[in-house]
Amino acid sequence: MSDKYDVVVIGAGPAGYVAAIRCAQLGLSTACIDERIGKDGKPAPGGTCLNVGCIPSKALLDSSEQYYRISHEFASHGIRVKDASIDVATMMARKDKIVKTLTGGIQQLFKANKVTFYRGRGQLLGNNQVVIQNGDDTQTVDGGYVVLACGSEPIDIPVAPVDQDKIVDSTGALEFERVPKRLGVIGAGVIGLELGSVWRRLGAEVTVLEALDNLLPMADQNIVKDAHRQFKTQGLNIKLGCSVTGTDCSGKKVGVNYSDKNGDHDLEVDRLIVAVGRRPNTKDIVGKGIELKKDDRGFIEIDNQWRTSLTNVFAIGDAVRGPMLAHKGSEEGIAVAELIAGQHAHVNYDVIPWVIYTWPEIAWAGKTEQQLQEEGVPYRIGAFPFAATGRARAMEQPMGQIRIIAHQDTDTVLGVHIVGPYASELIAEAVVAMEFSASSEDIARIVHAHPTLSEAMHEAALAVDKRAIHKAN
Ligand code: FAD
Ligand code: AMP
Repeated sequence: MSDKYDVVVIGAGPAGYVAAIRCAQLGLSTACIDERIGKDGKPAPGGTCLNVGCIPSKALLDSSEQYYRISHEFASHGIRVKDASIDVATMMARKDKIVKTLTGGIQQLFKANKVTFYRGRGQLLGNNQVVIQNGDDTQTVDGGYVVLACGSEPIDIPVAPVDQDKIVDSTGALEFERVPKRLGVIGAGVIGLELGSVWRRLGAEVTVLEALDNLLPMADQNIVKDAHRQFKTQGLNIKLGCSVTGTDCSGKKVGVNYSDKNGDHDLEVDRLIVAVGRRPNTKDIVGKGIELKKDDRGFIEIDNQWRTSLTNVFAIGDAVRGPMLAHKGSEEGIAVAELIAGQHAHVNYDVIPWVIYTWPEIAWAGKTEQQLQEEGVPYRIGAFPFAATGRARAMEQPMGQIRIIAHQDTDTVLGVHIVGPYASELIAEAVVAMEFSASSEDIARIVHAHPTLSEAMHEAALAVDKRAIHKAN
Protein backbone atom coordinates (compact mmCIF):
# COMPACT_ATOMS: atom_id res chain seq x y z
CA MET A 1 0.00 0.00 0.00
CA SER A 2 1.37 3.40 -0.90
CA ASP A 3 0.85 6.54 1.15
CA LYS A 4 -1.61 9.01 -0.39
CA TYR A 5 -1.24 12.79 -0.37
CA ASP A 6 -3.12 15.67 -1.94
CA VAL A 7 0.22 16.93 -3.26
CA VAL A 8 3.61 15.31 -3.78
CA VAL A 9 6.51 17.66 -4.51
CA ILE A 10 9.72 16.27 -6.03
CA GLY A 11 12.68 18.45 -5.04
CA ALA A 12 13.15 20.51 -1.87
CA GLY A 13 14.99 23.50 -3.31
CA PRO A 14 13.59 27.02 -2.96
CA ALA A 15 10.90 26.18 -5.51
CA GLY A 16 9.87 22.80 -4.07
CA TYR A 17 10.10 23.40 -0.32
CA VAL A 18 8.20 26.67 -0.61
CA ALA A 19 5.49 24.97 -2.72
CA ALA A 20 5.22 22.18 -0.13
CA ILE A 21 4.93 24.56 2.85
CA ARG A 22 2.33 26.73 1.09
CA CYS A 23 0.30 23.63 0.12
CA ALA A 24 0.32 22.50 3.76
CA GLN A 25 -0.67 25.98 4.95
CA LEU A 26 -3.68 25.74 2.64
CA GLY A 27 -4.77 22.50 4.30
CA LEU A 28 -3.51 20.07 1.67
CA SER A 29 -1.79 16.88 2.86
CA THR A 30 1.68 17.24 1.37
CA ALA A 31 4.84 15.21 0.88
CA CYS A 32 8.18 16.56 -0.33
CA ILE A 33 10.96 14.33 -1.65
CA ASP A 34 14.63 15.24 -1.97
CA GLU A 35 17.65 13.06 -2.53
CA ARG A 36 20.34 15.48 -1.38
CA ILE A 37 22.67 14.44 1.44
CA GLY A 38 24.69 17.03 3.38
CA LYS A 39 28.36 16.86 4.33
CA ASP A 40 27.38 15.13 7.59
CA GLY A 41 25.72 12.30 5.64
CA LYS A 42 22.24 13.45 6.70
CA PRO A 43 19.35 14.64 4.49
CA ALA A 44 19.84 18.26 3.42
CA PRO A 45 16.69 19.82 1.96
CA GLY A 46 17.14 23.33 0.56
CA GLY A 47 18.35 22.40 -2.90
CA THR A 48 21.20 23.97 -4.80
CA CYS A 49 20.43 27.32 -3.20
CA LEU A 50 21.06 26.40 0.43
CA ASN A 51 23.65 23.67 -0.10
CA VAL A 52 25.88 24.67 -3.02
CA GLY A 53 24.50 27.91 -4.42
CA CYS A 54 23.16 31.21 -3.10
CA ILE A 55 23.92 30.72 0.57
CA PRO A 56 27.45 29.21 0.65
CA SER A 57 28.57 31.56 -2.13
CA LYS A 58 27.26 34.57 -0.21
CA ALA A 59 28.94 33.30 2.98
CA LEU A 60 32.30 33.20 1.17
CA LEU A 61 31.64 36.52 -0.55
CA ASP A 62 31.04 38.06 2.85
CA SER A 63 34.18 36.56 4.42
CA SER A 64 36.35 37.57 1.49
CA GLU A 65 34.85 41.06 1.49
CA GLN A 66 35.78 41.53 5.18
CA TYR A 67 39.31 40.35 4.43
CA TYR A 68 39.62 42.66 1.43
CA ARG A 69 38.42 45.64 3.49
CA ILE A 70 40.85 44.95 6.29
CA SER A 71 43.69 44.58 3.81
CA HIS A 72 42.86 47.48 1.49
CA GLU A 73 40.36 49.90 2.97
CA PHE A 74 40.79 50.13 6.74
CA ALA A 75 43.92 52.31 6.55
CA SER A 76 41.97 55.28 5.18
CA HIS A 77 39.72 55.11 8.28
CA GLY A 78 42.85 55.35 10.42
CA ILE A 79 42.60 51.71 11.45
CA ARG A 80 45.94 49.95 11.32
CA VAL A 81 45.84 46.16 11.21
CA LYS A 82 49.15 44.37 11.19
CA ASP A 83 49.57 41.14 9.25
CA ALA A 84 45.94 40.30 8.46
CA SER A 85 45.76 36.73 7.23
CA ILE A 86 43.04 34.40 6.05
CA ASP A 87 42.44 30.99 7.61
CA VAL A 88 40.59 29.20 4.81
CA ALA A 89 39.61 26.25 7.00
CA THR A 90 37.81 28.54 9.48
CA MET A 91 36.16 30.46 6.64
CA MET A 92 34.88 27.17 5.16
CA ALA A 93 33.73 25.87 8.55
CA ARG A 94 31.69 29.07 9.05
CA LYS A 95 30.10 28.59 5.63
CA ASP A 96 29.30 24.92 6.37
CA LYS A 97 27.72 25.86 9.71
CA ILE A 98 25.44 28.40 8.01
CA VAL A 99 24.39 25.79 5.43
CA LYS A 100 23.69 23.20 8.14
CA THR A 101 21.64 25.66 10.21
CA LEU A 102 19.52 26.58 7.21
CA THR A 103 18.95 23.05 5.88
CA GLY A 104 18.03 22.01 9.44
CA GLY A 105 15.64 24.96 9.46
CA ILE A 106 13.80 23.60 6.42
CA GLN A 107 13.28 20.28 8.20
CA GLN A 108 11.86 22.13 11.20
CA LEU A 109 9.55 24.13 8.94
CA PHE A 110 8.37 20.88 7.34
CA LYS A 111 7.59 19.48 10.80
CA ALA A 112 5.86 22.66 11.96
CA ASN A 113 3.69 22.70 8.83
CA LYS A 114 3.10 18.91 8.78
CA VAL A 115 4.83 18.36 5.44
CA THR A 116 6.03 14.75 5.27
CA PHE A 117 9.64 14.70 4.07
CA TYR A 118 11.10 11.70 2.24
CA ARG A 119 14.85 11.38 1.64
CA GLY A 120 15.44 9.66 -1.68
CA ARG A 121 15.26 9.97 -5.42
CA GLY A 122 11.74 10.41 -6.73
CA GLN A 123 10.47 9.36 -10.13
CA LEU A 124 7.01 10.02 -11.48
CA LEU A 125 5.20 6.98 -12.87
CA GLY A 126 1.66 6.74 -14.28
CA ASN A 127 -1.44 7.93 -12.36
CA ASN A 128 0.62 10.37 -10.32
CA GLN A 129 2.42 7.63 -8.46
CA VAL A 130 5.91 8.59 -7.35
CA VAL A 131 8.45 5.90 -6.60
CA ILE A 132 11.13 6.88 -4.05
CA GLN A 133 14.51 5.15 -4.09
CA ASN A 134 16.55 5.54 -0.89
CA GLY A 135 19.56 3.24 -1.05
CA ASP A 136 18.10 -0.26 -1.26
CA ASP A 137 14.69 0.87 -0.01
CA THR A 138 11.92 1.59 -2.46
CA GLN A 139 8.54 3.00 -1.61
CA THR A 140 5.70 4.55 -3.54
CA VAL A 141 3.52 7.54 -2.75
CA ASP A 142 0.42 8.77 -4.58
CA GLY A 143 -0.32 12.41 -5.21
CA GLY A 144 -3.60 13.92 -6.33
CA TYR A 145 -1.25 16.53 -7.77
CA VAL A 146 2.49 16.28 -8.37
CA VAL A 147 4.84 19.27 -8.50
CA LEU A 148 8.16 18.73 -10.28
CA ALA A 149 10.77 21.03 -8.72
CA CYS A 150 13.90 19.10 -9.63
CA GLY A 151 16.10 22.14 -10.26
CA SER A 152 19.30 22.33 -12.22
CA GLU A 153 22.94 21.23 -12.31
CA PRO A 154 26.15 22.78 -13.69
CA ILE A 155 26.78 22.40 -17.42
CA ASP A 156 30.04 20.66 -18.24
CA ILE A 157 32.04 21.16 -21.42
CA PRO A 158 34.18 18.44 -23.02
CA VAL A 159 37.21 20.75 -23.33
CA ALA A 160 37.38 21.14 -19.55
CA PRO A 161 36.22 17.93 -17.83
CA VAL A 162 35.46 18.55 -14.15
CA ASP A 163 37.39 16.34 -11.69
CA GLN A 164 36.54 18.51 -8.62
CA ASP A 165 40.25 18.70 -7.95
CA LYS A 166 42.09 20.84 -10.48
CA ILE A 167 39.08 21.53 -12.68
CA VAL A 168 35.98 22.27 -10.62
CA ASP A 169 32.41 23.38 -11.14
CA SER A 170 30.65 25.92 -8.89
CA THR A 171 30.25 23.27 -6.16
CA GLY A 172 33.99 22.48 -6.11
CA ALA A 173 34.84 26.18 -6.14
CA LEU A 174 33.11 26.51 -2.76
CA GLU A 175 35.44 23.92 -1.25
CA PHE A 176 39.04 24.99 -1.99
CA GLU A 177 41.22 24.17 1.01
CA ARG A 178 43.68 26.99 0.21
CA VAL A 179 43.80 30.10 -1.94
CA PRO A 180 45.09 29.12 -5.38
CA LYS A 181 47.99 31.27 -6.55
CA ARG A 182 46.53 31.42 -10.03
CA LEU A 183 42.91 30.72 -10.80
CA GLY A 184 41.16 30.43 -14.15
CA VAL A 185 37.41 30.80 -14.57
CA ILE A 186 35.56 29.82 -17.75
CA GLY A 187 32.43 31.95 -18.09
CA ALA A 188 31.93 35.55 -16.89
CA GLY A 189 28.28 35.04 -15.95
CA VAL A 190 26.84 35.66 -12.50
CA ILE A 191 28.41 32.58 -10.91
CA GLY A 192 31.82 32.98 -12.57
CA LEU A 193 32.11 36.62 -11.48
CA GLU A 194 30.96 35.93 -7.92
CA LEU A 195 33.27 32.98 -7.36
CA GLY A 196 36.14 34.69 -9.19
CA SER A 197 35.65 37.68 -6.85
CA VAL A 198 35.82 35.49 -3.72
CA TRP A 199 39.22 34.07 -4.60
CA ARG A 200 40.58 37.32 -6.07
CA ARG A 201 39.81 39.16 -2.82
CA LEU A 202 41.72 36.48 -0.94
CA GLY A 203 44.76 37.00 -3.13
CA ALA A 204 44.50 34.69 -6.16
CA GLU A 205 45.49 36.00 -9.59
CA VAL A 206 42.22 35.47 -11.42
CA THR A 207 41.72 35.24 -15.19
CA VAL A 208 38.14 34.93 -16.44
CA LEU A 209 37.67 33.68 -20.00
CA GLU A 210 34.34 34.60 -21.57
CA ALA A 211 33.14 33.46 -25.00
CA LEU A 212 30.96 36.49 -25.68
CA ASP A 213 32.30 39.88 -26.74
CA ASN A 214 30.26 41.76 -24.17
CA LEU A 215 30.04 41.21 -20.44
CA LEU A 216 26.67 40.28 -18.84
CA PRO A 217 24.55 40.88 -21.95
CA MET A 218 21.30 40.53 -19.99
CA ALA A 219 22.18 43.56 -17.82
CA ASP A 220 22.05 47.25 -18.74
CA GLN A 221 25.36 47.90 -20.44
CA ASN A 222 25.82 51.35 -18.82
CA ILE A 223 25.85 49.66 -15.44
CA VAL A 224 28.06 46.83 -16.65
CA LYS A 225 30.63 49.34 -17.93
CA ASP A 226 30.94 50.86 -14.42
CA ALA A 227 31.21 47.43 -12.81
CA HIS A 228 33.79 46.23 -15.33
CA ARG A 229 35.98 49.25 -14.54
CA GLN A 230 35.85 48.38 -10.83
CA PHE A 231 36.58 44.70 -11.49
CA LYS A 232 39.69 45.75 -13.45
CA THR A 233 40.84 47.96 -10.55
CA GLN A 234 40.43 44.97 -8.23
CA GLY A 235 42.64 42.91 -10.52
CA LEU A 236 39.96 40.60 -11.95
CA ASN A 237 41.37 39.94 -15.40
CA ILE A 238 38.31 39.39 -17.62
CA LYS A 239 39.10 38.39 -21.19
CA LEU A 240 36.14 38.65 -23.57
CA GLY A 241 35.68 36.90 -26.91
CA CYS A 242 37.72 33.87 -25.77
CA SER A 243 36.87 30.34 -26.69
CA VAL A 244 38.50 27.62 -24.57
CA THR A 245 39.78 24.91 -26.91
CA GLY A 246 41.45 22.51 -24.49
CA THR A 247 42.86 21.82 -21.04
CA ASP A 248 45.74 19.70 -19.80
CA CYS A 249 45.90 18.37 -16.24
CA SER A 250 48.80 15.97 -16.75
CA GLY A 251 51.27 18.14 -14.80
CA LYS A 252 50.95 19.83 -11.42
CA LYS A 253 49.06 22.76 -12.93
CA VAL A 254 46.19 23.13 -15.37
CA GLY A 255 47.13 24.19 -18.87
CA VAL A 256 44.33 26.06 -20.64
CA ASN A 257 44.30 26.69 -24.38
CA TYR A 258 42.00 29.35 -25.72
CA SER A 259 41.62 31.37 -28.87
CA ASP A 260 40.39 34.88 -29.53
CA LYS A 261 40.45 37.23 -32.51
CA ASN A 262 44.24 37.57 -32.13
CA GLY A 263 44.91 33.84 -32.37
CA ASP A 264 45.67 30.95 -29.99
CA HIS A 265 46.87 31.42 -26.42
CA ASP A 266 47.95 29.37 -23.40
CA LEU A 267 47.28 30.02 -19.76
CA GLU A 268 48.64 28.11 -16.77
CA VAL A 269 46.62 28.08 -13.56
CA ASP A 270 46.57 26.09 -10.32
CA ARG A 271 42.83 25.59 -10.51
CA LEU A 272 40.15 26.15 -13.08
CA ILE A 273 36.46 26.84 -12.39
CA VAL A 274 33.98 25.91 -15.12
CA ALA A 275 31.02 28.30 -14.79
CA VAL A 276 29.37 28.17 -18.20
CA GLY A 277 25.78 27.95 -17.03
CA ARG A 278 23.30 25.41 -15.65
CA ARG A 279 20.93 22.92 -17.21
CA PRO A 280 17.66 21.48 -15.93
CA ASN A 281 18.00 18.33 -13.86
CA THR A 282 15.11 16.58 -15.61
CA LYS A 283 16.68 13.52 -17.22
CA ASP A 284 15.01 10.70 -15.25
CA ILE A 285 12.27 12.66 -13.56
CA VAL A 286 9.58 10.46 -15.17
CA GLY A 287 9.59 6.71 -15.69
CA LYS A 288 9.83 5.02 -19.08
CA GLY A 289 6.77 5.48 -21.26
CA ILE A 290 5.55 8.62 -19.43
CA GLU A 291 5.25 11.39 -22.00
CA LEU A 292 6.39 14.54 -20.22
CA LYS A 293 7.03 17.25 -22.81
CA LYS A 294 10.43 18.96 -22.58
CA ASP A 295 12.13 21.44 -24.88
CA ASP A 296 15.37 20.65 -26.72
CA ARG A 297 17.44 21.84 -23.73
CA GLY A 298 15.57 19.62 -21.27
CA PHE A 299 13.37 22.30 -19.64
CA ILE A 300 9.94 20.91 -18.78
CA GLU A 301 7.33 22.58 -20.97
CA ILE A 302 4.56 24.35 -19.09
CA ASP A 303 1.61 26.59 -19.88
CA ASN A 304 1.17 30.00 -18.29
CA GLN A 305 -0.07 28.33 -15.11
CA TRP A 306 2.87 25.95 -14.69
CA ARG A 307 0.84 22.94 -15.97
CA THR A 308 2.93 20.30 -17.74
CA SER A 309 1.72 17.99 -20.52
CA LEU A 310 0.66 15.46 -17.83
CA THR A 311 -2.67 15.75 -16.03
CA ASN A 312 -2.42 17.35 -12.57
CA VAL A 313 1.37 17.61 -12.83
CA PHE A 314 2.98 21.06 -12.43
CA ALA A 315 6.61 22.11 -12.83
CA ILE A 316 8.43 25.11 -11.31
CA GLY A 317 11.85 26.63 -10.62
CA ASP A 318 15.06 26.03 -12.55
CA ALA A 319 13.47 23.02 -14.28
CA VAL A 320 11.25 25.34 -16.35
CA ARG A 321 11.77 28.45 -18.52
CA GLY A 322 12.74 31.81 -17.07
CA PRO A 323 15.63 33.14 -15.03
CA MET A 324 17.41 30.57 -12.87
CA LEU A 325 16.90 32.47 -9.64
CA ALA A 326 15.83 31.14 -6.26
CA HIS A 327 13.14 33.77 -5.64
CA LYS A 328 11.62 33.17 -9.09
CA GLY A 329 11.21 29.47 -8.20
CA SER A 330 9.79 30.26 -4.76
CA GLU A 331 7.14 32.58 -6.19
CA GLU A 332 6.17 29.89 -8.69
CA GLY A 333 5.94 27.44 -5.77
CA ILE A 334 3.49 29.69 -3.93
CA ALA A 335 1.49 30.28 -7.11
CA VAL A 336 1.14 26.57 -7.89
CA ALA A 337 0.11 25.74 -4.31
CA GLU A 338 -2.60 28.41 -4.47
CA LEU A 339 -3.81 27.16 -7.86
CA ILE A 340 -4.05 23.61 -6.52
CA ALA A 341 -6.03 24.93 -3.56
CA GLY A 342 -8.47 26.52 -6.01
CA GLN A 343 -7.25 30.09 -5.65
CA HIS A 344 -6.03 32.55 -8.27
CA ALA A 345 -2.28 32.89 -8.72
CA HIS A 346 0.06 35.13 -10.61
CA VAL A 347 3.80 35.74 -10.93
CA ASN A 348 4.86 39.04 -12.49
CA TYR A 349 7.82 37.94 -14.63
CA ASP A 350 8.32 41.54 -15.79
CA VAL A 351 9.53 42.60 -12.35
CA ILE A 352 11.87 39.89 -11.10
CA PRO A 353 14.92 41.43 -9.45
CA TRP A 354 18.37 40.23 -10.51
CA VAL A 355 21.37 40.62 -8.24
CA ILE A 356 25.06 39.97 -8.79
CA TYR A 357 26.93 39.96 -5.48
CA THR A 358 30.25 41.26 -6.72
CA TRP A 359 31.62 44.49 -5.23
CA PRO A 360 30.23 46.81 -6.31
CA GLU A 361 26.98 44.85 -6.39
CA ILE A 362 24.85 44.94 -9.53
CA ALA A 363 21.05 44.77 -9.34
CA TRP A 364 18.22 45.51 -11.66
CA ALA A 365 14.55 45.02 -12.40
CA GLY A 366 12.60 45.63 -15.57
CA LYS A 367 13.89 46.58 -19.01
CA THR A 368 17.39 47.69 -19.94
CA GLU A 369 18.02 50.76 -22.09
CA GLN A 370 19.23 48.44 -24.86
CA GLN A 371 15.97 46.44 -24.80
CA LEU A 372 13.86 49.60 -24.98
CA GLN A 373 15.89 50.86 -27.93
CA GLU A 374 15.35 47.56 -29.74
CA GLU A 375 11.62 47.70 -28.99
CA GLY A 376 11.40 51.36 -30.07
CA VAL A 377 9.88 52.45 -26.76
CA PRO A 378 10.46 56.17 -26.03
CA TYR A 379 12.06 56.78 -22.64
CA ARG A 380 13.84 59.24 -20.36
CA ILE A 381 16.66 58.32 -17.99
CA GLY A 382 17.57 59.77 -14.63
CA ALA A 383 20.99 58.75 -13.37
CA PHE A 384 22.60 59.59 -10.05
CA PRO A 385 26.08 58.64 -8.83
CA PHE A 386 26.59 57.27 -5.31
CA ALA A 387 29.67 59.52 -5.09
CA ALA A 388 27.26 62.45 -4.73
CA THR A 389 25.60 60.97 -1.63
CA GLY A 390 26.89 61.68 1.84
CA ARG A 391 26.34 58.10 2.99
CA ALA A 392 28.48 56.49 0.27
CA ARG A 393 31.22 59.06 1.03
CA ALA A 394 31.01 58.33 4.77
CA MET A 395 31.24 54.62 3.99
CA GLU A 396 34.27 55.25 1.74
CA GLN A 397 32.34 53.60 -1.12
CA PRO A 398 31.73 56.43 -3.60
CA MET A 399 31.27 54.15 -6.60
CA GLY A 400 28.53 53.33 -9.08
CA GLN A 401 25.16 54.83 -9.85
CA ILE A 402 21.40 54.29 -10.01
CA ARG A 403 19.67 54.68 -13.38
CA ILE A 404 15.89 54.95 -13.55
CA ILE A 405 14.34 54.53 -16.97
CA ALA A 406 10.81 55.95 -17.32
CA HIS A 407 8.44 56.04 -20.27
CA GLN A 408 8.84 59.30 -22.16
CA ASP A 409 5.11 60.04 -22.26
CA THR A 410 3.55 58.32 -19.23
CA ASP A 411 6.59 58.53 -16.89
CA THR A 412 5.90 54.92 -15.76
CA VAL A 413 9.10 53.34 -14.45
CA LEU A 414 10.21 50.71 -16.99
CA GLY A 415 13.54 49.68 -15.49
CA VAL A 416 15.87 50.44 -12.60
CA HIS A 417 19.56 49.57 -12.80
CA ILE A 418 21.98 49.84 -9.92
CA VAL A 419 25.71 49.32 -9.61
CA GLY A 420 27.12 50.23 -6.24
CA PRO A 421 27.19 49.45 -2.53
CA TYR A 422 24.31 47.24 -1.37
CA ALA A 423 22.52 47.36 -4.72
CA SER A 424 21.03 44.02 -3.60
CA GLU A 425 19.06 45.79 -0.87
CA LEU A 426 18.30 49.00 -2.76
CA ILE A 427 16.61 47.21 -5.66
CA ALA A 428 13.67 46.30 -3.40
CA GLU A 429 12.34 49.87 -3.56
CA ALA A 430 12.40 49.74 -7.35
CA VAL A 431 10.56 46.41 -7.36
CA VAL A 432 7.81 47.77 -5.12
CA ALA A 433 7.52 50.89 -7.27
CA MET A 434 7.30 48.90 -10.51
CA GLU A 435 4.88 46.36 -9.04
CA PHE A 436 2.55 49.27 -8.28
CA SER A 437 3.16 50.85 -11.74
CA ALA A 438 4.75 53.91 -10.15
CA SER A 439 6.03 56.83 -12.19
CA SER A 440 9.43 58.40 -11.60
CA GLU A 441 7.47 61.34 -10.19
CA ASP A 442 6.01 59.00 -7.53
CA ILE A 443 9.51 57.98 -6.40
CA ALA A 444 10.63 61.60 -6.52
CA ARG A 445 7.83 62.56 -4.10
CA ILE A 446 8.64 59.84 -1.53
CA VAL A 447 10.64 61.06 1.48
CA HIS A 448 13.94 59.17 1.69
CA ALA A 449 15.93 59.20 4.93
CA HIS A 450 19.17 61.16 5.09
CA PRO A 451 21.95 60.16 4.93
CA THR A 452 21.23 56.86 3.19
CA LEU A 453 22.21 55.16 -0.04
CA SER A 454 18.51 55.21 -0.94
CA GLU A 455 18.82 58.95 -1.52
CA ALA A 456 20.49 58.01 -4.81
CA MET A 457 17.14 56.44 -5.84
CA HIS A 458 15.33 59.65 -4.93
CA GLU A 459 17.82 61.79 -6.83
CA ALA A 460 17.77 59.46 -9.87
CA ALA A 461 13.98 59.86 -9.94
CA LEU A 462 14.36 63.65 -9.77
CA ALA A 463 17.01 63.44 -12.49
CA VAL A 464 14.51 61.88 -14.91
CA ASP A 465 12.96 65.34 -15.02
CA LYS A 466 16.35 67.09 -14.83
CA ARG A 467 15.79 68.37 -11.31
CA ALA A 468 18.24 66.39 -9.19
CA ILE A 469 19.43 68.56 -6.34
CA HIS A 470 22.92 67.25 -5.64
CA LYS A 471 24.29 67.16 -9.19
CA ALA A 472 24.25 69.42 -12.22
CA ASN A 473 21.41 68.39 -14.55
P1 FAD B 1 17.29 23.40 -6.84
O1 FAD B 1 17.69 24.40 -5.84
O2 FAD B 1 18.32 22.90 -7.78
O3 FAD B 1 16.65 22.21 -6.02
C1 FAD B 1 16.20 21.04 -6.59
C2 FAD B 1 16.38 19.93 -5.59
O4 FAD B 1 15.73 18.77 -6.08
C3 FAD B 1 17.81 19.52 -5.33
O5 FAD B 1 18.06 19.45 -3.96
C4 FAD B 1 17.94 18.15 -5.97
O6 FAD B 1 18.86 17.33 -5.28
C5 FAD B 1 16.53 17.63 -5.84
N1 FAD B 1 16.14 16.66 -6.85
C6 FAD B 1 16.26 16.76 -8.19
N2 FAD B 1 15.75 15.67 -8.80
C7 FAD B 1 15.28 14.89 -7.81
C8 FAD B 1 14.62 13.63 -7.79
N3 FAD B 1 14.35 13.00 -8.91
N4 FAD B 1 14.30 13.12 -6.61
C9 FAD B 1 14.59 13.77 -5.45
N5 FAD B 1 15.20 14.96 -5.40
C10 FAD B 1 15.54 15.50 -6.57
N6 FAD B 1 19.96 32.32 -7.19
C11 FAD B 1 19.56 33.46 -6.60
O7 FAD B 1 18.39 33.83 -6.70
N7 FAD B 1 20.44 34.23 -5.88
C12 FAD B 1 21.74 33.88 -5.75
O8 FAD B 1 22.52 34.59 -5.11
C13 FAD B 1 22.19 32.68 -6.36
N8 FAD B 1 23.47 32.28 -6.23
C14 FAD B 1 23.86 31.10 -6.78
C15 FAD B 1 25.19 30.71 -6.61
C16 FAD B 1 25.62 29.50 -7.13
C17 FAD B 1 27.06 29.08 -6.95
C18 FAD B 1 24.69 28.66 -7.81
C19 FAD B 1 25.13 27.34 -8.36
C20 FAD B 1 23.37 29.05 -7.98
C21 FAD B 1 22.95 30.27 -7.47
N9 FAD B 1 21.63 30.72 -7.63
C22 FAD B 1 21.24 31.91 -7.08
C23 FAD B 1 20.63 29.94 -8.37
C24 FAD B 1 19.72 29.19 -7.41
O9 FAD B 1 20.51 28.35 -6.59
C25 FAD B 1 18.70 28.39 -8.20
O10 FAD B 1 18.01 29.24 -9.09
C26 FAD B 1 17.70 27.73 -7.26
O11 FAD B 1 18.35 26.90 -6.34
C27 FAD B 1 16.67 26.92 -8.06
O12 FAD B 1 15.75 26.37 -7.19
P2 FAD B 1 14.97 25.03 -7.53
O13 FAD B 1 14.18 24.71 -6.31
O14 FAD B 1 14.28 25.16 -8.82
O15 FAD B 1 16.10 23.92 -7.75
P1 AMP C 1 25.50 32.13 -16.66
O1 AMP C 1 24.56 31.55 -17.68
O2 AMP C 1 25.11 33.47 -16.08
O3 AMP C 1 25.88 31.16 -15.59
O4 AMP C 1 26.85 32.45 -17.46
C1 AMP C 1 27.63 31.51 -18.13
C2 AMP C 1 28.61 32.30 -18.99
O5 AMP C 1 29.54 31.39 -19.56
C3 AMP C 1 27.95 33.03 -20.15
O6 AMP C 1 28.37 34.38 -20.14
C4 AMP C 1 28.45 32.29 -21.39
O7 AMP C 1 28.63 33.15 -22.49
C5 AMP C 1 29.79 31.76 -20.90
N1 AMP C 1 30.24 30.58 -21.63
C6 AMP C 1 29.50 29.51 -22.00
N2 AMP C 1 30.28 28.56 -22.63
C7 AMP C 1 31.56 29.08 -22.64
C8 AMP C 1 32.83 28.60 -23.12
N3 AMP C 1 32.96 27.40 -23.71
N4 AMP C 1 33.91 29.39 -22.96
C9 AMP C 1 33.81 30.61 -22.33
N5 AMP C 1 32.64 31.11 -21.86
C10 AMP C 1 31.53 30.36 -22.00
